[in-house]
Parts: sequence; structure tokens; C-alpha cells
Amino acid sequence: MRAAVATGANLPLTLDDLDLPHPAAGEVLVKVTACGVCYSDLSLLRGHYPFARFPVVPGHEITGVVTAVGEGVTFPEVGTAVGGQFLYDSCGHCDYCVRGDQILCPRKRVTGVVADGGYAEYVLLKAGFVTPLPDGLDPVAAAPLMCAGLTAFNGLRQAGTTANSRVAVVGLGGVGALAVRYAVAMGASVAVIGRSRRGEDQAKALGADLFVATADSDPADALKAWGGADVVLNAAPSTEAAAATLGGIAPDGTLLLLGYGPEPLTLPTQPMILNRLHVAASPSGSPHDLRDALAFSAAHDILPEVTPITLDQAPGVLDAMADGSAHGRSVITFA
Ligand SMILES: [Zn+2]
Ligand SMILES: [Zn+2]
Repeated sequence: MRAAVATGANLPLTLDDLDLPHPAAGEVLVKVTACGVCYSDLSLLRGHYPFARFPVVPGHEITGVVTAVGEGVTFPEVGTAVGGQFLYDSCGHCDYCVRGDQILCPRKRVTGVVADGGYAEYVLLKAGFVTPLPDGLDPVAAAPLMCAGLTAFNGLRQAGTTANSRVAVVGLGGVGALAVRYAVAMGASVAVIGRSRRGEDQAKALGADLFVATADSDPADALKAWGGADVVLNAAPSTEAAAATLGGIAPDGTLLLLGYGPEPLTLPTQPMILNRLHVAASPSGSPHDLRDALAFSAAHDILPEVTPITLDQAPGVLDAMADGSAHGRSVITFA
């Protein structure tokens, strides 16, 4: 089968022919329909995951169809359309796994980093960690939901978003744009915080009530004038951008980090205590979270805009992402 392989830190992605793998007990063989190209794949290639296992096939935003199952697998059956995500598997017996928080398992493994992922015609996944796709969900456009969508949806949920919430989303990239749409669909009022006015039209089109450009105004003042944000969801690759909103968070509100930069989070403590503010961070999610994220996306018709590419185009797209010239979400598709 054709596959793209990461051979080591700071080495280019190479295209290769690999043997078709066979599913062992508990595994399913998935014929890949589509695999999103994620900024985490770039982090892998840059050597930012010290726990990576090279060589490895990257890719954790996978949709496909089960074509064979290993011993003992009764679900999903051959022919089922499924999604595969960042969480490859977990220990299955720690307190987190037992309560359905597998994403918190100390022994969790990551798809496309320590186990081969979706930049290939076929991928082996664990039966208990794939999620059936809701009927009618376009498997190409849905690929980024396995990562960006799950992260945005689960983050809003972890932060306690309700129809009464005022949600401010910082950054309008893949995760941010989906977070705006999910929050609007949950009934929340939404503000978007961007650097310049460039994102304003897009934010309004996605359903945001307010757009704040940090080049023109202080985000904390603008959020305070809006009535205060119950949730600030930081989807920008900057910790400072998140910290700048603190004065605009409503009492009992939450600053939620999904995106972050290398700089530490520095916050003024007295207003945090006086207003009982919460600071939280969230990774992607567990299998049950992905089920809910996909069901919600299907029910509200929320799919990202994607650009389909071939496997051969993937190295070039990753280069463009690295030098900042890429735009939009690219999804590798297989015939
Ligand atoms: Zn991802
Ligand atoms: Zn565990």
C-alpha cells in the first residue's frame, strides 16, 4: 500500500510502499477514505514529540471503512464507516479509562506518532477506539472533525457552555472556526477575538455577535463592555492572547486553553480570586466525546471547509504550513 512515512525528527516526509498490515486481536483494518493534515503532524516532523516512534506513518484525522477485523472483534463490523482520532489506545484499566476518560490515561498512545496513522491507503486501528460515522456525514469534509472538531466541541463542553453562555473564541483557525459554529448551535452568544479586522466578515458569517480586533482595542475591555465572557476559548497558538482576555471574563467564568504558545501563562491573581475565575486546558477527547461531537456536527450540519489533496501533495502542503503560506484545511483523499 502507498503511504507517507516520517523517518525522523527534521527529516522530510517520504512516500513509500508498505506491506498491507493484518489486524491482530482487538484491531480493525480500515481502508482510508480521507485523512486531515493537522498542525500536530508538523510538530511530529519537527521533533516536538519526544515520545514519537520513528519511522511512523503520520495522520490522526482519519475516516474510512472497516475491511477486516482481528480475532474477537464483534464491533465495528466489516463495511462500517468509521473515524479514527488522536487517541490510538489506552491501558483500559486505570481509573481514567474505567470512567471513560481514556484521553487522560497515563499510558495512552497517540495515532500517527507512536502507532501508524492515516497517511496511507490502509491503517490498523483499535476496535474500541474507532467511532462509527453518523449516516450521511461526508467522510472527506468530516476528517478534521476527528481532531479539530472533537477538540473544539469537547472544550466547550468541559468549560460548561450552555444556551445562556457568552463565549469568546480567540483565533479563527481550524479549531476556532468550528468552536464558533458549535457554540452558536449550542445557543450561546459568541464573540470572536482576532488580531486584525481581517477575520470580521468570516466571524459574523459563522454567527458571531461581536468581533474584537486586538490591533484596535483591548480584548478585556471589549469583552467587559459586551457583558463579560462566561467562557474564553483560546484557539490561537499564543498563550499571551489568552491571558489578555482575563479582565473580560465574567464572574465564575472559565479561561480554556486549547491553543497555546511556548510562553508560560501569567495572570493577575487578585481579580481571579475576587471573581472566582477558572483556568482550564483540554486535549482532544475520549471515544465517547467523539461520538457526541460527530452526532452534534451531523445534527447541526457543521462541517469544515476543506481542500482535498493527494498523498503525493502532502509533503508540499506540510512545507507550506511550516513557512506560513498554507491556507485552509487540507485533507488527503484516497481513490
Ligand atoms: Zn490534529
Ligand atoms: Zn488507562
